[in-house]
Amino acid sequence: MNPQPPKTPEQQRLAADEQMLERRRIARERLAAERRAKAERQRRMTMLVFAVTAVVMMIGVIAVVIASRRDVPAAADTQPPDETAAEGLITPLGDFTVCIDPGHGYGDEGARSQVVDGVVEREVNLDVALRLRDLLESVGVTVSMTHDTNTPPDGEESSYTIDLETRMNIANSFGADRFVSIHCDSYPADTSVSGVRIYYVRGRDADSLASQTADAIAAELEGSTPRIMPMNENDTYYVIRVSEAPGLLVEIGFLSNPEEAASMLDEDWKQSMALGIANGLIHNLNEGLET
Ligand SMILES: [Zn+2]
Repeated sequence: MNPQPPKTPEQQRLAADEQMLERRRIARERLAAERRAKAERQRRMTMLVFAVTAVVMMIGVIAVVIASRRDVPAAADTQPPDETAAEGLITPLGDFTVCIDPGHGYGDEGARSQVVDGVVEREVNLDVALRLRDLLESVGVTVSMTHDTNTPPDGEESSYTIDLETRMNIANSFGADRFVSIHCDSYPADTSVSGVRIYYVRGRDADSLASQTADAIAAELEGSTPRIMPMNENDTYYVIRVSEAPGLLVEIGFLSNPEEAASMLDEDWKQSMALGIANGLIHNLNEGLET
């Protein structure tokens, strides 16, 4: 092999220039590669930030949707009228007030059915009274109750009771337009005796109230023919004698009668009873506006 001839100075300069150009080319390429890599990293970072933002926003939207869906039943719960319960309820034509007295209560259980286990007057009275209250309030009637629970106040003995005078102080200080006390009858000597009895005091503007309530109960409870019981002032129940508002004492049925005692455990029966009493009261109150 022949040794290469020595390079001329001109050739050496050209070679040096070429090497320099080559280094610059490599440097440019490396720089370009670094820039591409940096751009790629930035692109990925941007996409990541975008994706995270999108996910966070979606979670936010989902949370808002879930919260708004939860709000719907919550709002429905706070609406007082129960449309199915209030079906058939007469609309009051004025701003009326009614006081309801659930008979007995707390440590006074009233009468107890001897023919159907677990039917206690105290519980039935309160149950129907609370249904009556809810019905009246659902159409805007203002209601007060002599008591709305049978659970004694804190610190009281379980024998705690609410006497008749206290009840009527509550009722009369409320200044209601109508008063109604709810009880259950009992006649163990003859268990065939049954039916609704509506007591009121003659001459106390309660005659039409009593008959309208009897009609309204009969309309709601099939086969029911409530009896109207006009009483003399000196021979009647304390609550309707002392009531300043036209008042009724409704004995909704007989605990001693097996059929009626069983009805007192039936939700539909109790609701119909409450609806009948409510309609009797509202009918009478509406009529009072016209005269
Ligand atoms: Zn009673």
